[in-house]
Amino acid sequence: MIRLEQIYKNYVSGSKQVTALDGINLHISAGEVFGIIGRSGAGKSTLIRMLNLLERPTTGDVWLNNEQISALTDAQLRTVRQKIGMVFQHFNLLQMRTVLDNVCFPLRLAGLTRAQQRERALEVLELVGLKDHVNKYPRQLSGGQQQRVGIARALANHPQLLLCDEATSALDPETTQSILRLLSEINQNLGITIVLITHSMDVIRSICDRVAVIEGGKLVEIGPVMDVFLHPQHAVTQSLLTESGMDTDGWQSFSQQVEGRLLRLSFRGEATSAPVLSQISREFNVDLSILQGAVSRIKDTPYGQLVVAAKGDLEQWPEVEALLAQHGIDCEVLRP
Ligand code: ADP
Repeated sequence: MIRLEQIYKNYVSGSKQVTALDGINLHISAGEVFGIIGRSGAGKSTLIRMLNLLERPTTGDVWLNNEQISALTDAQLRTVRQKIGMVFQHFNLLQMRTVLDNVCFPLRLAGLTRAQQRERALEVLELVGLKDHVNKYPRQLSGGQQQRVGIARALANHPQLLLCDEATSALDPETTQSILRLLSEINQNLGITIVLITHSMDVIRSICDRVAVIEGGKLVEIGPVMDVFLHPQHAVTQSLLTESGMDTDGWQSFSQQVEGRLLRLSFRGEATSAPVLSQISREFNVDLSILQGAVSRIKDTPYGQLVVAAKGDLEQWPEVEALLAQHGIDCEVLRP
């Protein structure tokens, strides 16, 4: 769907040069919800703005459906951009225009007649649940409703790709969840590919299929959300998970006081660990004590991690590991 090849972006600020993107290669497939997470200043905004060329790369190419859009002129890009909707953190609505007029705006730019604009605008406003608010002004709406207008406006021209620039960062947690649900429905029901940037692991966990972690203008980790959450490889990913309370590293502070082999068990989907742990205790004469546990959901799939200490007869260990694997439970030895 969209591909970035060897993207570098430098800004000159005074006498200094800042490398905002430092050799980015990325391929996002049609139908994905793809999340980009990183700390402030990591390069997220610059990266998402590369996808519709609101920022042009210093060097490197951007491809959309096999067309090299980075080679197009600004005039040619205008048509391409109609296929790419964008949603902003602060909604960017026209305050002096009604909800309906805000959504008609991109349709007018696309050359539709007034009647066509109105028909399509009402259709997308109904889709985002704002049918009863079309004649209001943005200031008469809540933050969540204003973002729904922003989403309706982004959907108006039937985009294939929706870019969300910290779309929920200005909203309270409950409203965030309702906007994320709406984005998820748009992805599933309309088949629109979504790319979002965020600093929140919760947003990634709620709706993304894959995630990339950006730091210092480089992609330091990329993969399916489940894999990245259960087995984060990079220090930045690990600390972002720790800060969001979604790691299982708390055991480290008291591991010295615990005897035995320390294991981290990860399970996903229907695999649940409890019956397997008691089976291991019974059959192999191994005592398992749980030091820490976390169970949550990634999109609609439950997942969990347990840190356990194994004591007793460890002679038959390969068989224990085989039994865990047979139940779809990953076992990582944290201390032999
Ligand atoms: P993020 O969205 O992750 O906070 P940005 O993409 O906004 O990061 O910024 C990445 C780096 O590029 C930062 O060091 C920032 O200061 C710098 N930067 C971004 N835009 C500009 C600009 N227009 N001029 C100069 N430096 C910029």
